[in-house]
Amino acid sequence: MSFNSLGLSDALLKAVSKKGYTIPTTIQEKAIPRILERKDVLASAQTGTGKTAGFALPIIQILAQGHSLRKRPVRALVLTPTRELAAQVYAEVKEYSAHVDINSAVIFGGVNQNPQVAKLRNGVDILVATPGRLLDLHNQKLLSLVKVEFLVLDEADRMLDMGFLKDIRKILNLMPSKRQNLLFSATFSKEIKQLASGFMRHPVIVEATPQQTTVEKINQKAYRVDKGRKLKLITKLISDGDWKQVLVFTRTKHGANRLSQKLIKSGISASAIHGNKSQNHRTKTLDGFKKATIRVLVATDIAARGLDIPLLPHVINYELPNVPEDYVHRIGRTGRAGASGEAISLVSSDELDFLKSIEKLIKQNIPSEELWGFEPSVGDVSKKEEPKKFQHGKPRPKSNKGNYKKRKRSYGAKPDRNNNA
Ligand code: AMP
Repeated sequence: MSFNSLGLSDALLKAVSKKGYTIPTTIQEKAIPRILERKDVLASAQTGTGKTAGFALPIIQILAQGHSLRKRPVRALVLTPTRELAAQVYAEVKEYSAHVDINSAVIFGGVNQNPQVAKLRNGVDILVATPGRLLDLHNQKLLSLVKVEFLVLDEADRMLDMGFLKDIRKILNLMPSKRQNLLFSATFSKEIKQLASGFMRHPVIVEATPQQTTVEKINQKAYRVDKGRKLKLITKLISDGDWKQVLVFTRTKHGANRLSQKLIKSGISASAIHGNKSQNHRTKTLDGFKKATIRVLVATDIAARGLDIPLLPHVINYELPNVPEDYVHRIGRTGRAGASGEAISLVSSDELDFLKSIEKLIKQNIPSEELWGFEPSVGDVSKKEEPKKFQHGKPRPKSNKGNYKKRKRSYGAKPDRNNNA
């Protein structure tokens, strides 16, 4: 299967080839022809499946075929749950429409509205927006949705998780009922089905098997380590492996800040990204990370959702998430669109239950290892302080750079060492 057989115009094929894509992903292969047939599409696809091109390419193609109106009203609205995702979708739309006469813009909260309003005044065909700012500008009568022909709900499940259902309903009422609807969601929960049945017309259901981005393609490992030694271990992994682009997850915003500061102190360029950071900081950080001037991006689950970092080689769970589904989202940041990646979890004894829940969810064991010099101590390993001695009474070597051997052990199914002690 090639892009040539999907019914896309030369202008779009040129943009696709400039992006370096040669083979369409499953979602693109299945969704593009149906969208071009003007069908509503309900697609199960998460970030990493190539869903953005899956909806953006056919929409751009249809819109570029005719705009007789002098003033450009918004004809396609793409709603996303987060500012980051909105910015990424917009960046892709711009690239794909490089060779056609289509204007696009992005609007989201947390930044001054004036530049966004100025752009809207110039006329916008495709508008990418988060729900809050969209309603805000609409209430101020700074934009109109009465000419919308396409509505895309991107990461619809996340939008519902984040409490946007009411806003979505309000937005649906601002558009003409005759339009083409596309809904993308990682899961088809009861709530999603309910939402979809309320406004979609006989949607074609398209599935992109999530396995291709998550569990199967990713080399997953768990390193058992004491909580108080995680910082040393992560510093060592990054330095010894000479890793240039690492995404690290923590459970809390505070933890993300603390870890990034500590990494900086050890000479590793790092930055934290989470909900309390300004939009400016988030954009700058993400940019630095993509250009590899920032080596380590420390993120919380919400902030990382929707981040588009192609071919990310390493994801580290500094702390395991207490919601097992978040593990799947986290490791989905690596091994994207066909590339393989590595996901490492640093697991302290107080997180073994989380590990078990994750293994149950993904229906596979995550191979557990201990690194020489970082073996978890017996007893209460969740204590902050670093153990002074080896378990056999020998002092821990000061440095074992480049010389740590891996000792394979099987945890999870077997009782752990602490219980045996
Ligand atoms: P998405 O799921 O839309 O966030 O896309 C995930 C990543 O895959 C993005 O970095 C895209 O640029 C990339 N991508 C999309 N389609 C393809 C394709 N056909 N071949 C290779 N990479 C792709």
